[in-house]
Amino acid sequence: VLDPAMLRPGRFDRRGVVALPDMAGRGSIIAVHTKKVPICDGVNLDSLARGTPGFSGADLANMVNEAALIAAKCNKTEVLQEDFESAKDKVLMGTERKSMIFSKHELINTAYHEAGHTLVAKLVNADPVHKVTIIPRGRALGLTQMLPEEDRYSVTKSYTLDQIAVLYGGRIAEDLKFGDITTGAGNDIDRATELARKMVCEWGMSESIGPISFGKKGDSIFLGKDIQQPQDYSAKTAEKIDEEVKRIMTEQYDRAYKILKENWDQLSAIAEALIVYETLSSTDIDTLMGGDKLTREPPKVRMTTREDLANRQQKSNEEAEKKAKDADKDTLLGPLADGATD
Ligand code: ZN
Repeated sequence: VLDPAMLRPGRFDRRGVVALPDMAGRGSIIAVHTKKVPICDGVNLDSLARGTPGFSGADLANMVNEAALIAAKCNKTEVLQEDFESAKDKVLMGTERKSMIFSKHELINTAYHEAGHTLVAKLVNADPVHKVTIIPRGRALGLTQMLPEEDRYSVTKSYTLDQIAVLYGGRIAEDLKFGDITTGAGNDIDRATELARKMVCEWGMSESIGPISFGKKGDSIFLGKDIQQPQDYSAKTAEKIDEEVKRIMTEQYDRAYKILKENWDQLSAIAEALIVYETLSSTDIDTLMGGDKLTREPPKVRMTTREDLANRQQKSNEEAEKKAKDADKDTLLGPLADGATD
């Protein structure tokens, strides 16, 4: 927590706002950082700049660095486009944690959860889905990564409503598949609630409440965010706000529910492909939604499930037993058998 006294006049008078770079800015930042990196001729830096909206300068530096590391790990002398793409995913979604062990059921549950997000995102006007995966990354068990097509400086009401519907897609898919739900959607519900509350209280996007902002952040003692937030509205208004937030969320929940129920075949096609391929690209998703099957090879190194481990253990136990038995045979029957065979 920073003491606001730090910002009293005479201390830090000159303040600069560093906004996130736009596409041209990202291009120049990438150019600076790639100067000392041996890059393959075919690498298209412009497409990298286009494909990284929302990245900060530090993210881009990190991406170039990771790409060089990935290339070096594979003993390449030059960094290829694919290295940049994996580095971008790493910066965007966190490091893959393929070594985590789940039960088969948990994996299937995650696959349906992510497929739910993906399908709702495809069928409303959300940002394009960049990638969807059931490999845990960072703290997430699975991930549906959407990436805007271009730089975004503000969002519309309909876009925000679509976002809320997409966030509910995961929970609903679990429910439709198993008739039961998990804690995996906790973060989604958090984010959906925050968006709906902001729509009502900050962005004036609710018709019944009107374009008023509530809960103005007063001058609290510390800069550490909402520690002290004086309530600048009546209890009656608070009730209205709660009702409105709930209405927005329920409407989007029902909307996502309808979308997933009506497109169950597409949902299960994406989920089943996720179980086999673990990560799907945007073109994979389009193929599956078009009713076709994926023809590429599934990954060689797959996630290990608890059942796989148990099977492996059983196999090695059986082998050990067989070896022990054979050894017994050798010592007990070996000499006898010599003369007794036909
Ligand atoms: Zn989710």
